[in-house]
Amino acid sequence: MNPESKVVTRFAPSPTGYMHVGGVRTALYAWLFARKHKGTFILRIEDTDKEREVAGSIGHIIESLRWLGIEWDEGVDVGGPSAPYLQSERLASYQKYAKILIDKGIAYPDPYTEEEVEAFRKKAEDEKRPFLYRDHRPETFGVWEGTTPLRFKVPEVKRYEWHDDVRGTLSAGEEALDDFILIKSDGYPTYNFAHIIDDYEMGVTHIMRAQEFISSTPKFLSLYDALEMTPPHIATMPVILAPDGKKKLGKRDGAKDVLEYRAEGYIPEAMVNFLSFIGWNPGDEREVMTVAEIIDAFSLEHVHKAGAKFNEEKLLWFNQKHLQLLPRQEYCNRLRTFMHERGMEAPSFIDAVAHLLVNRSHTLLEAANALQSDEFAFMHETTDTPVSELLTQHGKIETVVAKKHLLKVSEMLKNLATESFSDLSVKEMIFEYATQEGRGNVLWPMRVALSGQEKSPDPFTLSGLLGKDKTLSRIEQAAAVL
Ligand code: GLU
Repeated sequence: MNPESKVVTRFAPSPTGYMHVGGVRTALYAWLFARKHKGTFILRIEDTDKEREVAGSIGHIIESLRWLGIEWDEGVDVGGPSAPYLQSERLASYQKYAKILIDKGIAYPDPYTEEEVEAFRKKAEDEKRPFLYRDHRPETFGVWEGTTPLRFKVPEVKRYEWHDDVRGTLSAGEEALDDFILIKSDGYPTYNFAHIIDDYEMGVTHIMRAQEFISSTPKFLSLYDALEMTPPHIATMPVILAPDGKKKLGKRDGAKDVLEYRAEGYIPEAMVNFLSFIGWNPGDEREVMTVAEIIDAFSLEHVHKAGAKFNEEKLLWFNQKHLQLLPRQEYCNRLRTFMHERGMEAPSFIDAVAHLLVNRSHTLLEAANALQSDEFAFMHETTDTPVSELLTQHGKIETVVAKKHLLKVSEMLKNLATESFSDLSVKEMIFEYATQEGRGNVLWPMRVALSGQEKSPDPFTLSGLLGKDKTLSRIEQAAAVL
């Protein structure tokens, strides 16, 4: 790459629905590339297909990118030197370049009605030959009033070959080259025309986009030629495949709204790490990486040509790893915020049990649910004293035996000073006794006495969390039941 030219990339979604993983991955790669090369990343909205537009999509796109930390230097909502960044507000630019093409004699108003075009199409089909608009190109061009489609007169029908920064040499040919529409009868440009003008005016140096655009590339290249513009670099992203690796990822296989992951308790650090690894890797053994490390390692040479599988289990794994990497205080804050946002009451003891939660839950949602479940009921000020049935493990331990051990444990623990009362000191104090007497017989009643539950953390952890007073009083209360 020419060191003189500053890298400019863009993400140019159409506001036709929610952001799914494919779209976000494209945005991420364009952003990583810009950040890696200290360039500019633009967010442009391609809203020229008014029929397909879905209300609320733009806000949704913005929210999704911001959640992931994919910040743009220029674009909708933030402005910039090439504003506006909403295509529907850039119609004057498209008119300007349309006029250049008209003046050169390579754009012309479509003289046919829809019915006439349909009849041509039908005839071609009946004669089993491909329908080409250029076969019906008028001899002389009328004056374009802006109320009929404006078509590009493809100057030369030939095979094009070009370089793709990911795929290498690609080519596509004549079949893609027909007199395509530049501006529709509703006054809006087509994607084919608008993105070329915008990329040019915004100084875009690298386009990252999906595979489906390869077959149209000859159209784009012929238009760049006609406008005497140098095309930007093109990098085609690998297809995201369903987990079985056989077909393109669809809604059924989990191509869901990226904000759903936020609601399920995934954190952006993990999403970014996971998404960056769908079709790229740093070329070494590393997997769990911070965004700074990913930016540093990112290069198009390591983006795969072939399709990449979407594996939600791997996302779960990344999420736990990144939750564990958060400073503990930050983990607690995120968990509290997550619970508040969902109308769940965040208990006061989150900080005390965070070290347990982070090792057992993969998502913030799992941790939040655990906090609200019986498993952590022991942390509440008052817990019901367990019934003897539970204390004796449903009769497996004799009542007198369970009682004897509880009393002995409480007697031993009294010797520990309040300040040094911890999971470790408790374990040290009673472990030998428990081993001699049979661990189950000693530790089960003790654990149930402290937690009141069939399932809970181990009795040492519980003692450490509860502190000396509560530990002793719960053990004594339980012994009194037996
Ligand atoms: N608006 C196009 C889309 O959403 C963008 C393609 C491109 O990046 O050029 O698919």
